[in-house]
Amino acid sequence: MSAISPSSQRLLENLGIWGSLNATDCCAYEAMSVRDALGNGRIGFDCADYAQPSLGHIVFNQAIVSSAWQRVHSASLISPIEGVGVHAFKRVASHMSVSLDDGREIDATLVIGADGVNSRVRELAGIRTCGWQYPQHAVVATVRHADPHQRVARQVFLDDGPLAFLPLGDGRSSIVWSTTPRHAEALAALEAAMEGELGAMQQVGARASFALGLRHALDYVQPRLALIGDAAHQIHPLAGQGVNLGFVDVAVLSDIIKQARQASRDVGEHGILRRYERRRKSENLPVMAGMDLIQRLFSRHAEPVNQIRSLGLSAADRLTPLKRLFAQQAMGFSGDAPDLLR
Ligand SMILES: Cc1cc2nc3c(=O)[nH]c(=O)nc-3n(C[C@H](O)[C@H](O)[C@H](O)COP(=O)(O)OP(=O)(O)OC[C@H]3O[C@@H](n4cnc5c(N)ncnc54)[C@H](O)[C@@H]3O)c2cc1C
Repeated sequence: MSAISPSSQRLLENLGIWGSLNATDCCAYEAMSVRDALGNGRIGFDCADYAQPSLGHIVFNQAIVSSAWQRVHSASLISPIEGVGVHAFKRVASHMSVSLDDGREIDATLVIGADGVNSRVRELAGIRTCGWQYPQHAVVATVRHADPHQRVARQVFLDDGPLAFLPLGDGRSSIVWSTTPRHAEALAALEAAMEGELGAMQQVGARASFALGLRHALDYVQPRLALIGDAAHQIHPLAGQGVNLGFVDVAVLSDIIKQARQASRDVGEHGILRRYERRRKSENLPVMAGMDLIQRLFSRHAEPVNQIRSLGLSAADRLTPLKRLFAQQAMGFSGDAPDLLR
């Protein structure tokens, strides 16, 4: 499940992916409530305050992937090769010669590494990363609860990490609990952790667990090669921004490729790709730093820090211009939007 921002929704609409999602695949959330369980701090957002029909949608990842594959299969200019990894590649002056795991060789003007945080493409290119692991795992599960979620996405910062309740179309909620690796105890404590806000609960989906970290590629591009998504940047999921940042990468790279084509330039040229890198690094780095700061701030339990944090959260709730800035960032409405996000 992912929280998809309105700006990412536009990208998926423009690519003909959003339209084939079923109503049961996504749930619009109209408000968001964030509170600090260790103090009285809380902040809330309502889509009506920003003249938007929603703050975003909670969408099944598999639904987006299936719908994207449908589009790929129906596009006459794309020849997908499925279920095969990249074994190696060699840079030749006019192209990249890519050998696949099944022995096939293909020539590419540009190789785009979109293969996640442990990117093989990044490794083969010898691009180094910096980052660290958080002492947290995210436990993901689906729960049914007695009281309606009222299309509100809820997040509470607990002693051991943030717990998010994300509303689903059928009345259930998807939870993401970033906690110590004590998964078994985690779900048993769900109701108590939410202080009964949603009534009695029943776990209805399988639990999955993910190690959490921050990782940033030192370079996003090389001649004839670009990294997008988690291959370039991995962040803590506490604000549900990871996939949304990846979608902006897609939109910006797409603009740059289009402009290069219109100017009859080679899209694999390092100078052209560097424009993508400069823009995305300057936008991704502040978000990464912000998420890391929040993660660290809410991991400290010394008394003065708790109080300052709670006061800060409540003060931000009253500072309308600051709140608007947060909301616009989360909805993906900040900055000069590339074509696919318009
Ligand atoms: C618990 C949790 C909750 C999250 N919630 C949110 C959220 O609400 N909103 C949000 O925006 N983000 C969220 N994220 C972050 C989001 O999941 C990631 O940012 C996003 O999945 C990254 O997408 P990606 O396509 O770059 O990489 P991935 O999703 O990792 O996809 C990489 C793809 O490449 C394929 N691949 C890998 N290696 C190879 C290879 N050698 N050859 C061929 N193919 C390969 C993989 O099979 C996979 O299909 C969350 C993350 C976690 C852990």
